[in-house]
Amino acid sequence: MPALTRPGKMNFISSTQVEMMVRYMFGSTTTYMITMRTGFFRGALSAGVLLGALAFASFAEAAAKKVLVVTTTTGFRHSSIPTAEKVLGELAERNGDFQVEYARVEPNDAAFKGADGKPDKEKVNAAIQKVLAEKMNPGALKTYDAIIFANTTGDLPVPDKEAFMSWIRDGGAFVGMHSATDTFHGYPPFIEMIGGEFKSHGPQVEVEAINRDKECPACRHLESTWKLYDEIYLFKSFDPTKVYEVLNLDKHPNDKTPGSYPIAWTKTYGRGRVFYTSLGHREDIWDPETPESIKRMNSKEIALAYQEHILGGIKWTLGLEKWSPKPLAVE
Ligand SMILES: [Zn+2]
Repeated sequence: MPALTRPGKMNFISSTQVEMMVRYMFGSTTTYMITMRTGFFRGALSAGVLLGALAFASFAEAAAKKVLVVTTTTGFRHSSIPTAEKVLGELAERNGDFQVEYARVEPNDAAFKGADGKPDKEKVNAAIQKVLAEKMNPGALKTYDAIIFANTTGDLPVPDKEAFMSWIRDGGAFVGMHSATDTFHGYPPFIEMIGGEFKSHGPQVEVEAINRDKECPACRHLESTWKLYDEIYLFKSFDPTKVYEVLNLDKHPNDKTPGSYPIAWTKTYGRGRVFYTSLGHREDIWDPETPESIKRMNSKEIALAYQEHILGGIKWTLGLEKWSPKPLAVE
């Protein structure tokens, strides 16, 4: 049913589907009555079918959006990926407005163990290729409302990158966390779409992020500033006039030189919406329930605030939150 919906597009409903709707709405007796030939019944049933179809369409519209969470990596692999996968699944379940599916390959799974006990790179790469061919081919993309790159890295073997970019331009939603900007360095359209490219980072550090827009669904739960501890990215290929920054720093995260350092932003790409947050390196910023073995540097409240931050971003890209950043309003 969710496959029927796509933001901004009319749904084509076939006569078979209408019949299914009528069965769903009124039971099989009404369906039987459709076959009656008298003008009176035909007229009444046409109206019934129309009403049924309308009711069904709005029911389908309210059904959960479909989101693909991609966590495959061909470069550095963050240990927080399983946590990110778990948290995104929990957010979807708690929220109910969207459901997640994964394109994931965990190199430490037993299936990929090589003769030396370590993950067999060839097997891992073949699995990444297979899952992306299946979930991100041009036809499969059309079945999703949003794609999330959660700590992806490297030049991922997406079967048709141009089709992926077109899918976003045509109204698809894209969300990236942390090393999503450390992905596809060799493919400029992706960098242009996401709005910046990872350049470097210093040691993990406590920073005070500035909330630039208290109306923004990704930030409205935060105070004017938000203290957190994470690995803070510095960017290249970043043009502040092409994005709408919602969180930033007013000094360098590590050497504290004054300046503007972006942390999270939104933008549009064609008719598509994009949300990116550079936060999300550490397990304890994603999850208030990290194991005791991990020394917490972020309180549970900070993790919950991060979850609200990404949930707000996801819902805005999906069109489930009404908010217009300035660059969008003048579009
Ligand atoms: Zn990192």
